[in-house]
Amino acid sequence: MSLRFQAINDLTNNGEKPKESSAKITAIFGENVFTLKKAREFLSDDAYKSLVGSIRGGKKIDRSMASQIASGLRSWAEGKGVTHFTHWFQPLTGTTAEKHDSFFTIKGDGTAIEEFDGAALIQQEPDASSFPSGGLRATFEARGYTAWDPSSPAFIMEIGNGKTLCIPTIFVSYTGESLDYKAPLLKALETLNKSAVEVANYFDKNVTKITPTLGWEQEYFVVDAGLANARPDILLAGRTVFGAGPAKGQQLEDQYFGSIPERVYAFMRDFEAESYKLGIPLRTRHNEVAPAQYECAPIFEEVNIAVDHNVLLMDIMTRVAKRHSLVVLLHEKPFAGINGSGKHNNWSMATDTGVNLLAPGKTPKTNLMFLTFFVNTIKAVHDYADLLRAAIASAPNDHRLGANEAPPAIISVFVGQYLAKVLSDIETRVSNKFDEQDEAILKLDLHRSIPELMLDNTDRNRTSPFAFTGNKFEFRAVGSSANCANAMIALNTIVAETLKKFKEEVDGLIEKGDKKEIAIMHTIQRYIVESKKVLFEGDGYSEEWAQEAAKRGLPNVKTTPLALDAMVTDKAKHLFESNNVYNHLELEARHEIELENYIKKVQIEARIMGDLALNHVIPPAVTYQNKLAKNIAALREAGLQEDAYTSQCEILKQISRHIQVVYTKVKEMVEARKVANNMTNTREKAIAYCDEIKGKYFDEIRYHVDKLENLVDDELWTLPKYRELLFLR
Ligand code: ADP
Ligand code: MG
Repeated sequence: MSLRFQAINDLTNNGEKPKESSAKITAIFGENVFTLKKAREFLSDDAYKSLVGSIRGGKKIDRSMASQIASGLRSWAEGKGVTHFTHWFQPLTGTTAEKHDSFFTIKGDGTAIEEFDGAALIQQEPDASSFPSGGLRATFEARGYTAWDPSSPAFIMEIGNGKTLCIPTIFVSYTGESLDYKAPLLKALETLNKSAVEVANYFDKNVTKITPTLGWEQEYFVVDAGLANARPDILLAGRTVFGAGPAKGQQLEDQYFGSIPERVYAFMRDFEAESYKLGIPLRTRHNEVAPAQYECAPIFEEVNIAVDHNVLLMDIMTRVAKRHSLVVLLHEKPFAGINGSGKHNNWSMATDTGVNLLAPGKTPKTNLMFLTFFVNTIKAVHDYADLLRAAIASAPNDHRLGANEAPPAIISVFVGQYLAKVLSDIETRVSNKFDEQDEAILKLDLHRSIPELMLDNTDRNRTSPFAFTGNKFEFRAVGSSANCANAMIALNTIVAETLKKFKEEVDGLIEKGDKKEIAIMHTIQRYIVESKKVLFEGDGYSEEWAQEAAKRGLPNVKTTPLALDAMVTDKAKHLFESNNVYNHLELEARHEIELENYIKKVQIEARIMGDLALNHVIPPAVTYQNKLAKNIAALREAGLQEDAYTSQCEILKQISRHIQVVYTKVKEMVEARKVANNMTNTREKAIAYCDEIKGKYFDEIRYHVDKLENLVDDELWTLPKYRELLFLR
């Protein structure tokens, strides 16, 4: 029996229910996190103060303090049965990395003890040679080291019966270049903080710190593990490269409103419980549009923590799914013909005085503050749309962007009709002669229209890649498998840069004698004029928008290798260097790594296609051909007229033709790969993989394979079909 039928069989007989926890959320929330509350309990006053200082004010922790903190951490962790610790980091491979060390050590005199000192807490040297470095390591002869990030709390990861203390760290080379996502993210958050505080101080001198916030919405698919195991493409690439569309897809829209299937529900509750223990504040769960697609979202947090939590969640989901004999697919496009998965990044900025800077204010004055940050964000997106596009570019996300189901590759901003009106009012009413009296009247008028735009009032436009949703912007084009850090580094840096320039310009006007509010209004007005072409309220999926965007001169880069170009322009280098986020070497290295990731992903998929075609598709097709041929011969022999077997002849012919195309195209694709593999320029190679391999062969091979799937005897077909993957659970 083929794996396919075995899996279907197992599913039908599967009566076993996995165990799940029924604890109250508050009873387990954060139990495996070294929160400040626990730190208070396990640390001396001095050590606690030093830790808090470092978290709140970025103060350095000295060695002796670090040792005290380490020993407090160890006592807490040992109390929970932990024997090992690891520096936990986010290398550019897109997953997380850890290297476990035990507390156990043998002293010089031979005594065996458990120990965890400050040095081990602060810094470690993982064997980094196999993490991508985009040539950085070769350039600097540098091995990487991990360094503790006290702003993200340590936690205990439970895998089966094993428990490990995880220390969140950054990963950098010895010459200081960052090799991970977290180091540049922390820098981007810092530059945003600096620029935003200066601008916020126009309105409120008490603001001393601004923390960007992030609430992600994670979409994913869930399929039965037995069925997934019978699909080498799902196993190796996380998506199906073949598969004929099932008779029923998402057209009935019954999944979105339907109830969550019991088995998936049990899985959800299980991974939620694991997440709560790690302090991940998950709040919503629901079905998504496509069959077998779901979503979960937490309450928003500081960006750094939210990014850690998302990476952790993806890891937890993948592991917990195994317990339920399920496989979770975080890929952006696991199945053709139905929706793919994204990860909306809801983003805002919060002051240490408790104000959400993107929430319309209650008074005319706070509204001006809101408008300032609102317009600066739009201007940033307008000026650096190419960088946002680059930040979300990846081989899997190419399947979504521009495929008329997800936001298009054109970056535009949706603000809703109320705010669009507010912006156009400012644009027309703030003129050269604009004086204090005009300002007072305008402020009141705006105040009158803004409070109307209560949360529910901001009309929803699901087709926009960057939408204002009442009190935050929602960057919707981020891919479901991405580390949010990439998008967050770009977004926070471009907003920081825009705010910095804004401050300079407003100060310039004030020096020339303008009153502060007038200077701000003038600058806001100019920013609206300069960036309004990025505003779009209509249907982002439509062909008209692509044409209109082209007229407006907005970039529409559909493929990753070209979208990544934006990372290494002079503009990008200047932006990231002057904001102390990346130096040009780091940017070039990252560009190289992204291109390599792209090449590898397409290469793997091309190989899988070849393998599946030759080993899983053509064999059953040939078997069926033989059956048909025998049948035709037998009918002929029995003396039947030709019209008795014309249908069989027809099917036989079609099968032969499809086999032939599949076989020739796979062969040609191998040759095309050889040509690409000989290219030395990484960018050219990536473009070749995009245009000459994926572009020329993927769809065509798939078309003929899917035709075969529809023709060949179902009993003979070994790859689980879409209807089984999507509807059996
Ligand atoms: P939806 O967009 O599905 O209607 P919500 O608007 O309630 O859902 O929120 C979606 C996500 O946005 C949640 O993760 C929520 O925590 C987050 N969010 C809400 N306010 C903010 C904010 N100020 N900053 C960042 N994220 C936020
Ligand atoms: Mg949303």
